[in-house]
Amino acid sequence: MIPYGRQSIDEDDITAVTSVLRSPWLTQGPAVIRLEEALVEYTGAEYAVSVSSATAALHVSCLALGLGAGDVLWTSANSFVASSNCALYVGAEVDFIDIDPVTRNICITALEDKLALAKLKGKLPKIIVAVHFAGLSCDMAKIRALADAYNVYLLEDASHALGSEYQGKKVGGCHYSDITVFSFHPVKNIAAGEGGAVLTNDICLANKVRQFACHGITKNAADFVQVDDSPCRYEQQNLGFNYRLSDIHSALAAQQLVKLDHFRELRANHVARYNRAFLDDALQIPITTSDKVAWHIYVVTFEHREVRDACFERLKAADIYANIHYIPIPSQPFYQGKGFNVADYPNTLAHYQRSLTLPLFVDLTESEQQLVIDTVKAAL
Ligand SMILES: *Cc1c(COP(=O)(O)O)cnc(C)c1O
Repeated sequence: MIPYGRQSIDEDDITAVTSVLRSPWLTQGPAVIRLEEALVEYTGAEYAVSVSSATAALHVSCLALGLGAGDVLWTSANSFVASSNCALYVGAEVDFIDIDPVTRNICITALEDKLALAKLKGKLPKIIVAVHFAGLSCDMAKIRALADAYNVYLLEDASHALGSEYQGKKVGGCHYSDITVFSFHPVKNIAAGEGGAVLTNDICLANKVRQFACHGITKNAADFVQVDDSPCRYEQQNLGFNYRLSDIHSALAAQQLVKLDHFRELRANHVARYNRAFLDDALQIPITTSDKVAWHIYVVTFEHREVRDACFERLKAADIYANIHYIPIPSQPFYQGKGFNVADYPNTLAHYQRSLTLPLFVDLTESEQQLVIDTVKAAL
């Protein structure tokens, strides 16, 4: 069986986890701090807060940015539902932007037009969530310029893009955004089991995120609002959640982070091999860029839906499990029930109907990859 993605675990990872199990701390101990320091070091951001998932990271980021009832968050129609659910968790509304069919990221022109229209209607978003689809960074400089022009916060959903670069700088450094979130789900670029992180250069946002991820509680005496000199004090100042990451998960993520650049190179080799194989076929392959890309998934787009479907079936018959990224969020029953219509996002819909995610993971062997290539070519 060849899945579309899976983690790569070695003996060092196992040792990292078992040594936590032998230590006095299972949660909120030194492994959490080590992971956060390593994320700061790796991305160049000033602050990192580890949390239990990227979904939790998006939720606390929305809270920290003050999103709430009466506000609107915009994101890509071509993403995982967590990118938009976070707005609804905090009582805000959500709306979607169609994609550029070449990058499969938010279409800058569509964003520009939608912002101009929203301004006329008096319904500008408070936050734009830019999703770096498949690991390829959005054009953050352009999105930042638009966000500045309309006074909107910028949140990068970099669940796919840990290890990628934009204009020669690591995604996560928040050079163009207020906050970046990562996922350490096992199919992503590094695994923690479940896990995520929030990166920012703003200490106020970092403190708020940390508090919202820990019940809204602070133990820092300097931040206390009540006067009480009894020992062991803590104050709950907001309604928060328990979104903390354990030391067990943090130790695995930190050990995986050490190998991230190596993982990226191995993934890039697999991608180059696919690209070479499909160069002359009737398939749209991922774009190439001078920036390093930590390709999280390898997505090809067929000319016709029927061929895509036939290819999926052929792969399945060969015990190869392709996937589709994504079912457009506005087409989900829950979002349809809120009045969204996927026909309003024609590029996202066309991408969904004609694309396929082929197996891509660090330990994919040459013979496995050749089998995928041969099976796809047979379907074309
Ligand atoms: C995986 C993913 C998430 C959610 O990540 P979790 O860590 O599983 O919560 C959010 N957004 C995107 C784009 C994702 O791919």
